[in-house]
Amino acid sequence: MRAKAAASNVDTLLLLSGGIDSTACLWQRARDGLPTRTHHVMLADWEGRQIHENRATTQVLAWIQQQYPRAQITHTESGVDFRTVRRIPRNHYLWGYWAGVLMHQKSGLTTIVVPRNKDDFSDPRAGETYDRSYLTSVELMTGQQPRLIYPILSYTKADLVKMLPEDLLKRTWWCRRPNAGQPCHTCSTCKKVEPNLPR
Ligand SMILES: [Zn+2]
Repeated sequence: MRAKAAASNVDTLLLLSGGIDSTACLWQRARDGLPTRTHHVMLADWEGRQIHENRATTQVLAWIQQQYPRAQITHTESGVDFRTVRRIPRNHYLWGYWAGVLMHQKSGLTTIVVPRNKDDFSDPRAGETYDRSYLTSVELMTGQQPRLIYPILSYTKADLVKMLPEDLLKRTWWCRRPNAGQPCHTCSTCKKVEPNLPR
């Protein structure tokens, strides 16, 4: 994982999963001409969606860079494997760690895009824990607290599905528990996304 982001004017980090929410954040930024440091964590766990998410990330980036060739995007990837541990810890603990790794003192990064939509976290304390993971990990690892921004907080998942260009949407991956390489149609994300897909 050798980043080229040092000494650049990019101050904003987005962890890109290949899902609809982080894709929507990157698309908005590219469209608006904002530079972004992106990072994808290949997260292997027993739910088995890492191959799909990794492919989606590659395709999403390629599409956005083709549509917005002047958008400045610097991308890296890393991998973490939880498969032998039959328990899945909250992913945001891991996002906090990777943000800390990437936001080292010479990185120039000060801000993290939180791709949280209106449907996420019916319990506000869960959102608070998510944010604290970023704030405390990055502060512990770099000595500086990051600024968090929430560009899609006013949109529901259905809004985002309708808002994204169709060609970009079809490059994302949303299913949490893929079955033989296909969306399961039954997980919570499939249920939120599929009824809103263009026909
Ligand atoms: Zn599913």
